[in-house]
Amino acid sequence: MRASLKIFTWLGIPVYLHWSFALILLFPAFTFVSSGFSWQDTALHLAILISLFTCVLLHEYGHAIMARRFGVSTRDIILTPIGGIARLERMPERPVQEILVAIAGPLVNVVIAALLLLGSKLLLQPEYWDLFVLGIEDAWSSLLNYFNFFGEPIETAGVLEGDAEIDMPFLPSFAFTLIILNAMLVIFNMVPAFPMDGGRVFRALVALRAGRVRATRIAASVGQIVAGFFLFLGIFQGPPSLMLIGVFIFITARSENAMVQMDDLLSRFTARDLVRRNFSRFNTHDWMQMAIDSLPHGLERNFLVFDLDDRLAGMLEEQSILQAARNQDRSAAVAKYMEDVPVIPLNTPLQHVYQLIRQHGNGILAVSDEYSVVGVIDEEGLMYFLRLQSGNAGKSNRFSLRR
Ligand SMILES: [Zn+2]
Repeated sequence: MRASLKIFTWLGIPVYLHWSFALILLFPAFTFVSSGFSWQDTALHLAILISLFTCVLLHEYGHAIMARRFGVSTRDIILTPIGGIARLERMPERPVQEILVAIAGPLVNVVIAALLLLGSKLLLQPEYWDLFVLGIEDAWSSLLNYFNFFGEPIETAGVLEGDAEIDMPFLPSFAFTLIILNAMLVIFNMVPAFPMDGGRVFRALVALRAGRVRATRIAASVGQIVAGFFLFLGIFQGPPSLMLIGVFIFITARSENAMVQMDDLLSRFTARDLVRRNFSRFNTHDWMQMAIDSLPHGLERNFLVFDLDDRLAGMLEEQSILQAARNQDRSAAVAKYMEDVPVIPLNTPLQHVYQLIRQHGNGILAVSDEYSVVGVIDEEGLMYFLRLQSGNAGKSNRFSLRR
C-alpha cells in the first residue's frame, strides 16, 4: 500500500495509517496554541483523538471479523483522517450476509458506548451521573434541532456548551465525550448512502427483492438524494464540512453504481463476443523498424509475434516499440522487445479478460480455439465493446477505472 505506514498486524490483518493521517495532529497542535499552551487541554484532546481512532479501528475489525465468518478475508485496514476502510477481498454474495457484515461495524460502537455508559452508571457518584444523563439529552436535542427547520428550537440544559462540564473530573468527562463520539459514529455510518454502512444495508435489503444490479441503481439514486440533502444542510445550517461530505457521497454513489453495472455487463459475455479475427502479426526475426513504421498507420498498437514455424512466440507492446524508437534501436530483432503474451480460450468470461487487460496491464491477449490462435483482444477493442454495450458508444471513458 503506497503512501501508508504499517503500524501493526492483529488477527492476521495488517493495519495501515494513510500519510494524510498526520494532518490529524494539527488538531491537538491547534488546541495547544489556542489554549495558551496548556498541556492538560492538549493531553485531553490527544487522548480523545487516540481513543476515537481506536473506536474507528474496532469498528473496522467488526466488519472484518463478521466477513471472516462468511469465508471472506480482509486484505488490510487503512486509517485516514476521515475514517477507516476495511478492504475486504470481496463482498459476500448473499444479501443477508452483506447486511450482517455492514452492520457489524456500527454494532461495535453501540457495544462500546453501552459499556462506557454501564461503567459510568456503576462507578460515578450520583450527581455526576445526573449530569451525564442531562448531557446525553442535550446532545440528542442539538441533533434534532439540526433538522428542525421550521419549529421553535428545542431547549437544552446547556451541559454541552460549558459551565456544567467544567465541574466534571477528567475521567468522567473523557468517558462522556467517547460515548457521544461513538453515538455519532453509529448515526453517521447508518446514513443510507454509499460509502456508509447504511448504504450497504439499504442496497442489500432492496436486493432481497429486486436483485443486486437494480438494487444498486436504486441505492445509488437514494444516495444522491441524501448527498443533496447534506449539501443543503451544509449551506443553510452548517457546518460547511457537510457540503464536502455531500459531494463525496454523490461521487461514491455514482462510481459504485458504474462498477456494479459494469460487473453485470461483463458477466454476460465471453472472449468469443469481442475477439478480433484479422490482426497484424510480426515475426521474431523482423526488424523493429517495421513495428515502428506500422504504428502511425493503423488502429493497432499492440501486436502478436510468431516464430518461423508460425507458432505464437509473444507480444510486442506499444511502449516497447516506442522504447526502441527512442533508443534508435531500429535494426534490432522483434524478439529483443517481445514479452510473454497471455493466451485465453474463446469461452473465457469477460470479467477475466477485463482483469488481464485493465488490472494486469496486458496490451493484448491471444485468443485460441482448441487448435491455434484465432484472434486477439486489445484494450481499445474491450473499451469500445463496453461502451457499445452500455449504450454509450459516443461518450469516451465511461468506464475509466484506471489500472
Ligand atoms: Zn463501517
